[in-house]
Amino acid sequence: MSIKALKGFKDILPDEVGLWQFIEQTARDIFHRYGFEEIKVPILEKTELFVRTIGESTDIVEKEMYTFADRNGSSVTMRPEGTAPVIRSYIENGLYVRGSVQRLYTIGPMFRHERPQKGRLRQFHQMSVETLGSNSARIDTEVMAMAWQVLQEIGLQASMEINSLGCPACRPSFKEALLEFLQLRLESLCEDCRRRSSSNPLRVLDCKSEHCQAEYATAPAIIDHLCTACSDHFAEVRQTLDLLDVPYAVNAKMVRGLDYYTRTTFELITTELGAQGAIGAGGRYDGLVQQLGGPEVPGIGFAMGMERLVMLLGQKQKVAAGAAPDLFLVTLGEAASEKGFVLLQMLRSKGLRVMMDHEGRSLKNQMKQADKCNAGFALILGDNELAKREVVLKDMYSGEQKLVDLPSAFADWAAAIREKIRQQ
Ligand SMILES: [Zn+2]
Ligand SMILES: [Zn+2]
Repeated sequence: MSIKALKGFKDILPDEVGLWQFIEQTARDIFHRYGFEEIKVPILEKTELFVRTIGESTDIVEKEMYTFADRNGSSVTMRPEGTAPVIRSYIENGLYVRGSVQRLYTIGPMFRHERPQKGRLRQFHQMSVETLGSNSARIDTEVMAMAWQVLQEIGLQASMEINSLGCPACRPSFKEALLEFLQLRLESLCEDCRRRSSSNPLRVLDCKSEHCQAEYATAPAIIDHLCTACSDHFAEVRQTLDLLDVPYAVNAKMVRGLDYYTRTTFELITTELGAQGAIGAGGRYDGLVQQLGGPEVPGIGFAMGMERLVMLLGQKQKVAAGAAPDLFLVTLGEAASEKGFVLLQMLRSKGLRVMMDHEGRSLKNQMKQADKCNAGFALILGDNELAKREVVLKDMYSGEQKLVDLPSAFADWAAAIREKIRQQ
């Protein structure tokens, strides 16, 4: 019996990879335009890191993490999200001494043991962006504008919803109002919500049960309980978003699933036909660095799910894999085949993508291969042609064929061929 991939784990095959690369390269380019630098952090971390940051009464920590004892018996967890490892690294490596504001991004796999359903994988991929060291509302706006721009440039329609979750100063009054509201309808809520209403009442608001959500339609909104500082900050965020013409709507019901969020929080929601739900989300986490033992440094970030972007974009356009050869070397006869093999290496050293057949197949079959791999050109080398230093270059798109005179020194052939291809 052949071995299959784990449930919820998926291969990204060569035919799909072009879309992944296109999205990643577009995003990287935009991140760099906004002054962000890449950081690569481990996939495996101490379990404690996620319990302390994401929060004990969250679905992620309670039900979804890939947590196990390693061979020394230490509890380790495969990262369920990208922010905590980046903050851990920021503190551990003292990145704050590089400059008061650090702009970091990371792209890679995350792991959550969720019930597999359409579009939800246990290994999924995110682009995760963090800005550390600034309280300015302009930073919030820059980060949101950047997320928005990524979607614009890869060609997806989306709308943005924003909210403010307040700070430790204003949250208690909201919690009190919410608690009062929950007490009145405790019996009609699901088991999770009943339990969490005492341990972490804010968490009930992102319960996945439709029944609970219907109950919460009239729940108090945190936006009505903001302190002056938070209220001013949120007003400035909206003002600066307006200045940059970034479209958004305030959604007072948005709470976000992680405990560490403060103040600005946002979601990018796709408006592409037939799709719904968030394709990216983020927010401020001003207390997180300190909570993990670092200095008092505010932060804001977001994450975008790659799978969803690939799926949405794949419905609209096919992006070529990007690895099609510039040239396919077609050889006839033994001498030509050997010369062709050396030429193959020389052309690749000159920066061209070149392929040839090693199975001694017919001219017709080699031309078929050239066509199948989407090569731009085919170069036909026969023993006779080699003797005359004349080869046939065929443009695979137009079908046009040209005779190319090669220089007397074999060492100069690759440069001459490259020149001919560039001219076409
Ligand atoms: Zn506040
Ligand atoms: Zn519930």
